[in-house]
Amino acid sequence: MSKKELKTVSPDVKWKDITPGGVIPYAGNAELFKTGDWRSMKPIWLKEKCKQCLLCYPVCPDTSILIDQEGKRVDFDFDHCKGCGVCVKVCPFKAIDFVEEDK
Ligand code: SF4
Ligand code: SF4
Repeated sequence: MSKKELKTVSPDVKWKDITPGGVIPYAGNAELFKTGDWRSMKPIWLKEKCKQCLLCYPVCPDTSILIDQEGKRVDFDFDHCKGCGVCVKVCPFKAIDFVEEDK
């Protein structure tokens, strides 16, 4: 069964469409889910303070720090950033603010 064939379980799903034992055969992958919905805190990129050192890029567990064609960091992917704050801690130039999510 491919990832695309996996269905969200609901009362309409037939038993034959469920994997044996209800096992999820693939590791959870944040790419498939909008983990940004979980966020209670939000990083704010302060472009004018950013030195483009890219230290924040490899530490993001959700690859939510986007890099453009020229290799420069741009704004966050807020669909997937879950607000863990690791990038905020790692930035040596205080170029990322961390504020409460405005829901
Ligand atoms: S760590 Fe800070 S200064 Fe470096 S690229 Fe990221 S936001 Fe910019
Ligand atoms: S707050 Fe966490 S998930 Fe969001 S961009 Fe920073 S490191 Fe990535």
